[in-house]
Amino acid sequence: MALKDVKSWQVGDVRITRIVEVASYPADIGMLLKDAGPEIFAPHKDWLSPHFITDDGQMLMQWQAFAVQTPTRTMMIDTCIGNDRKLYFDVFNDMQTSFLEDLKASGIDPDDVDTVCCTHLHYDHVGWNTKLVDGKWVPTFPNARYLFDETEYQEIRHLQEIGDWHGGHLPDAIDPVMDAGLHQFISAPGYQVCDEVRMEHTPGHTAGHCAIYIESQGERAVITGDLLHHPVQFAMPQRHGSFDHDPVKGAETRQAFVAQNADGAIMVIGSHFSDPTAGWIIPDGDAWRFVTERPNAA
Ligand SMILES: [Zn+2]
Repeated sequence: MALKDVKSWQVGDVRITRIVEVASYPADIGMLLKDAGPEIFAPHKDWLSPHFITDDGQMLMQWQAFAVQTPTRTMMIDTCIGNDRKLYFDVFNDMQTSFLEDLKASGIDPDDVDTVCCTHLHYDHVGWNTKLVDGKWVPTFPNARYLFDETEYQEIRHLQEIGDWHGGHLPDAIDPVMDAGLHQFISAPGYQVCDEVRMEHTPGHTAGHCAIYIESQGERAVITGDLLHHPVQFAMPQRHGSFDHDPVKGAETRQAFVAQNADGAIMVIGSHFSDPTAGWIIPDGDAWRFVTERPNAA
């Protein structure tokens, strides 16, 4: 069932493969943008519909991870929510999806993954860092280095220590990785993972959030992580997002990101964007819009 959602993009010599865990999930835009209702979509309906909003004005969201294969490396960019979790939202509790099977069917053996890049450490991005085997959480990618920002780790660890739900998954999804010595801290402004892949500090959603830039043979792509959650934010990047730990910083980062990547030449892959997930940012009056066909000028 889920295999139909697997999709790949070629960026020069790099292949990016999308593995979807939860597809096209409708939710109230007011969750993301405080006090917003369906009317916020009206001026942007021509480019948001039908991929990113429903006819009755809900935003569509998706939970997905990306495998990145370069000529020499096999990586995961985030790892979704995971099976068997006891989490904070009913919809994500004790999920039983075919995520790992889909990954293998896409030609990626977890044992061959040499790097896991965590855009940030929220539960819905690190779930498959580990899997439950005989009642014990063990690293899903035993031969990988797991890269995450040290500030990010400190922030989420602190939240765990004070009992905030944002850190509740660390014992299951992060500690087994660290206990196995598989983690590597990175720090701002970022980290060049290999010739083609770079983690870039984009704070706001969380303290050490990173976007993932991919460049090969003159072609470019970026995986956003959660620096934004829905394409409507291209039209209003300055508007504070409710999911951001630091909404002021999040808006700053989003505005800089949009301005930097609006040349129509870089493919933008939204970590929570529903299908087709990838597109290009182009200017639209005083703001921007997101198009799913490559602009002619690029
Ligand atoms: Zn997320």
